[in-house]
Amino acid sequence: MLAVASHRSHNSLVMVASMTLTAVVGLVLVACSSSTTPDSASNASVRASPSASALASAPPTPTAPAFDRTLLSLDDPNSLWVISNKHRPLNPVDFAPTDLSMPVGVPNEFTQPLREAAARAVETMYTDAVAQGVNFGIISAYRDYGTQVSLYSRYVARDGQEAADTYSARPGHSEHQTGLAVDFDDGGACYLNACFESTAAGQWLAANAADYGFVLRYPNGQDAITGFTYEPWHFRYVGVGAAQALRDSGTLTLEQFFGLEPAPGYL
Ligand SMILES: [Zn+2]
Repeated sequence: MLAVASHRSHNSLVMVASMTLTAVVGLVLVACSSSTTPDSASNASVRASPSASALASAPPTPTAPAFDRTLLSLDDPNSLWVISNKHRPLNPVDFAPTDLSMPVGVPNEFTQPLREAAARAVETMYTDAVAQGVNFGIISAYRDYGTQVSLYSRYVARDGQEAADTYSARPGHSEHQTGLAVDFDDGGACYLNACFESTAAGQWLAANAADYGFVLRYPNGQDAITGFTYEPWHFRYVGVGAAQALRDSGTLTLEQFFGLEPAPGYL
């Protein structure tokens, strides 16, 4: 978690720096508005060199460019932002993606594919992690409707439905059925266990996954919103823009990020 915090503050610094830069560029653009329209920010700063007093007299009002959270559908199961939770079954309930692709060069316990964009992102993320001395593999990725039916039934038979519902999604409600969710493991003693958070792999993923488009989907203590207990191994692909925006916003869940109602249990 420390790694997350320091990464977050690093990003905040970067954001502040870029916001300041934006403000300065904005001032430059205002200052040279009577000249020809600049074709780029860098050209603008070359052409106009406002005096220090001009910069000092105009109070900067930096506004971070807001990430457009309405860009993609949250309902269409083909959307990279589709939100599947206990209030939001996939529609159709037996949805299957059409662009499944096997990640290449990544250990993959059950040889399960992901949607194209997520598969390529996992490959890059894995390569970068290994280069930094961190190793992990895929436990589970895309699971089709039929697989979820048998998995969930098995858990209900073993633990009862109430218990099963806290850790296994009902068929049609599983993120794994979207082809955008992936469970990771490092081959150690924390296989599908909360202690995965303190492994090198768990720490690295928590800190860096957003830069590859993945978010930690079921954070610690957010059961009342996501409907699931803490799963430090389960990551969801939403694309780099959304994943970084969620991380930088300080928001923990996709439900909050997209303004959806909490989904603690099935309706
Ligand atoms: Zn999972």
